[in-house]
Amino acid sequence: MEISYILNHLGEEREEYYGAVVPPVFRTSNFCFKSVAEMREKLTRELETPFYTRGFNPTVSILRKKLAALEGSEDALVFASGSAAVAAAVMNVVKAGDHVVCANKPYSWTNTLLSKYLAKYGVSCTFVNGGEADSFEKAITDNTKLIYLESPNSLTFEIQDIAAIANLAKLKKITTIIDNSYNSPINQNPIGMGIDIVVHSGTKYLNGHSDVVCGVVCSTKERIMKMMGEEYMTIGSIISPDDASLILRGMRTLELRVNRSAETAVKVSRFLENHAKIKHVYYPFSANNPQLELAKKQMKQGGGLLSIVLNTDKVEDVERFCDSLKYFLMATSWGGYESLAFPMCALAASKSFENPLPFNMIRLYIGLEDADILIEDLKQALDKM
Ligand SMILES: *Cc1c(COP(=O)(O)O)cnc(C)c1O
Repeated sequence: MEISYILNHLGEEREEYYGAVVPPVFRTSNFCFKSVAEMREKLTRELETPFYTRGFNPTVSILRKKLAALEGSEDALVFASGSAAVAAAVMNVVKAGDHVVCANKPYSWTNTLLSKYLAKYGVSCTFVNGGEADSFEKAITDNTKLIYLESPNSLTFEIQDIAAIANLAKLKKITTIIDNSYNSPINQNPIGMGIDIVVHSGTKYLNGHSDVVCGVVCSTKERIMKMMGEEYMTIGSIISPDDASLILRGMRTLELRVNRSAETAVKVSRFLENHAKIKHVYYPFSANNPQLELAKKQMKQGGGLLSIVLNTDKVEDVERFCDSLKYFLMATSWGGYESLAFPMCALAASKSFENPLPFNMIRLYIGLEDADILIEDLKQALDKM
């Protein structure tokens, strides 16, 4: 299906709401019925039709249709955060006694979920070098039920061969999940490569305006209905209709924003790769990335995230560089309109990260500002270092 049609029109039934061009926010917890017979009938389909907003809400439903179409899946669910979506997807697949194989260095709270939290329910996890084709096969045991991928991850951008791993998983009857946040549905569609479940932090590119936290799961109708009857309804970490409406609004420009962010990131990464004070640039589409061929095979283009390692052994230099930036705001997260810098030396004291990355590494997110302004900003901050 054509992307601009999905973003602008799919799922919108304007005649149902007075021809309003923007879908209304159905800010209601309840829906009422004219007869017992109607109520009884609706209750049998409470996950597919308006009955109670934890199960079904018309504003959220429009968003679900667009997200499923963007990822090429049969259905989608929207959650209160990306982490809620990751947890619901993983917990829907595994039970006590099961084993998970996960690519190294997933998102921090995904790492906590798989390495610590699920252990208390008897689920174990092995982390493998995702860049090595046979590392997954070697780690699979008789009780492996899930392979979890994040390609690329959001700090050093290691890539996994999605089609090859999906193939292996199908042979062994193992379910696959991938976190596709870095790419957004614009740059990579893993369902078409054989992956069973795609998750997103909708907080990032999908919303794109840094004002909503949200998560997404895309999969088959069967899987989504199972998840609704289990994690979605019992844990109940749903998105509000107001936030769903903001995501719908943000997604009108998804393709424009993702393309702009990627084009500028390429220009910025070229500038940084040629600067004497930069030791290394991590970017999936950079010419020096040993996984460039694989990146080109499965991704349309790079995203707006890149990481740099400064050519210094002094933390004061890193701080001076970051403190001197004028356009890059110092913050976590990414995917919004504003460019960001996230210095790893800010993490050093944090207990939640067990393998701190080099102190002189900084993750940059390239937002929607003009490329020349961003490059000028980096240049003046590097000069001060
Ligand atoms: C931010 C992020 C998450 C978590 O999403 P939240 O919306 O913050 O809960 C998961 N995966 C990746 C890759 C992320 O960047």
